[in-house]
Amino acid sequence: MSFASLGLSAPLLKAVAEQQYTTPSPIQQQAIPAVLSGRDVMAAAQTGTGKTAGFTLPILEQLSRGTPVKGNRVRALILTPTRELAAQVAESVAVYGKHLRLKSAVVFGGVKINPQMMKLRGGVDVLVATPGRLLDLYQQNAVRFDNIETFVLDEADRMLDMGFIHDIRKIIQLLPAKRQNLMFSATFSDPIRKLAKGLIHDPVEVSVTPSNSTAKTVAQYVYPVDKKQKPNLLLKLIEEQQWQQVLVFTKTKHGANRLTRFLDEAGVTAAAIHGNKSQGARTKALAGFKTGEVRALVATDIAARGLDIDQLPQVVNFELPNVAEDYVHRIGRTGRAGASGQAISLVCADESDLLGGIERLTRQTIERRLIEGFEPVHPLPENAQKPRGHSKRKPHHKSHKTDHPEHKDGQRAPAAHKPARRRRPRPKNAGQNNRGQ
Ligand code: AMP
Repeated sequence: MSFASLGLSAPLLKAVAEQQYTTPSPIQQQAIPAVLSGRDVMAAAQTGTGKTAGFTLPILEQLSRGTPVKGNRVRALILTPTRELAAQVAESVAVYGKHLRLKSAVVFGGVKINPQMMKLRGGVDVLVATPGRLLDLYQQNAVRFDNIETFVLDEADRMLDMGFIHDIRKIIQLLPAKRQNLMFSATFSDPIRKLAKGLIHDPVEVSVTPSNSTAKTVAQYVYPVDKKQKPNLLLKLIEEQQWQQVLVFTKTKHGANRLTRFLDEAGVTAAAIHGNKSQGARTKALAGFKTGEVRALVATDIAARGLDIDQLPQVVNFELPNVAEDYVHRIGRTGRAGASGQAISLVCADESDLLGGIERLTRQTIERRLIEGFEPVHPLPENAQKPRGHSKRKPHHKSHKTDHPEHKDGQRAPAAHKPARRRRPRPKNAGQNNRGQ
């Protein structure tokens, strides 16, 4: 199948060819005609599947056929949970729309609002925004929504995780009733479905990977290791396996800083990226990582969300995430758009319950690999998926108190709606149904 057969016109086909995309990815094959049909679309797709082009290309196609935008108005609004993702989606809009005469802009918090107001003054065809800043701009009359033709909610699951639900509902109420709605999410939990009900009407449902499944092209391994040995093991792996570009996940901002210092001191150029860093520092770290100047990018979940680094070969979970779905997101950073990648988790005994949650969610037992000299004193169970009779319930309480995990991207309050994520004793047939956990 070719891009031309999907109904895109010459300026877009030219831009796609310039990106050297030869075939539309599965999500693009499904989403592009669905969006062009004008119907609402609900898509289950992880980052890395090509979903951004999946909605950007048909939106640009539709906009290029309509009438140009006027003062302070917007024709297509794309909401994303984080600044990084907003910036990357905006970049895609610019790249794919290069040969069209459409105006686009991106707005997010953490930077001055005035230049954004100026940019919006003449109106833009496509606006990419994070929810908080968009509402600020709206309240200051810098943007009007009455001409919105298409509304996209990107990474809806993450929006809810980050506590944006009220902002999203507010924004939706401000939109004109007649519009096309597109919703993208890696996972479809009950709260997402509830949100979708109020937003999407008679949608075309598009799905490329069953929700909560991990990308097939990613080889996954668990390296059992004692907690104290993790930094040294990571260093050994980076050096011996000669990883030139590795994205490392930690659970906390402080943990990210500590590990970055450790790697730097050991001679591996590293940079941390998390919500306490200024926008400038994050952009610089990401740019350095992309050019190869920075060998290890150490990130928290929220900050890493939406990072689009072409063909990232190596992802390491220095610590497992508290929320099993985040594992799926994390490893979605590698093996993108058909390229193969490797995701390695350094797991200590304290984390065996978290590992069990991940293995149940993704319905797999991840291969264990012991490294000589790093065999753990406190071993991991061979099959962490098995529900335990009496669970050790402590592992991450301590870190909650002393080293707060990052819940948010700057300004917004964390979601208070996730008590169900705390581990409960599981029934015998756990693993069949982890939805809404
Ligand atoms: P996304 O899932 O939108 O974050 O896209 C993941 C990566 O795939 C990005 O780096 C895109 O540039 C790339 N990509 C998107 N569509 C294609 C395609 N049809 N062929 C090859 N690469 C693509």
